[in-house]
Amino acid sequence: MALSFEPDPCAKCEELLQPYLDRDLSDAERVQAEKHLDDCSYCRKRYKFEVELRRFVRKAVVEEMPPDLKQKLAALRTPLL
Ligand SMILES: [Zn+2]
Repeated sequence: MALSFEPDPCAKCEELLQPYLDRDLSDAERVQAEKHLDDCSYCRKRYKFEVELRRFVRKAVVEEMPPDLKQKLAALRTPLL
């Protein structure tokens, strides 16, 4: 049996990081997420990646992306249709 994705090495990631990025946490939860980002290098890397990705996605609304970047993002993105 072949898995196409690596198992997530940190369970906190999905639980904290996504709502943190969406600013969808209470103050207490936000503090918890920030503390976790300090402790966990995996989440820190993932967080940076997500922030970059969001910046590109927002920029892409008004700017044309370079084709190599477009390709890179397309490889990462789950098809929406
Ligand atoms: Zn983590």
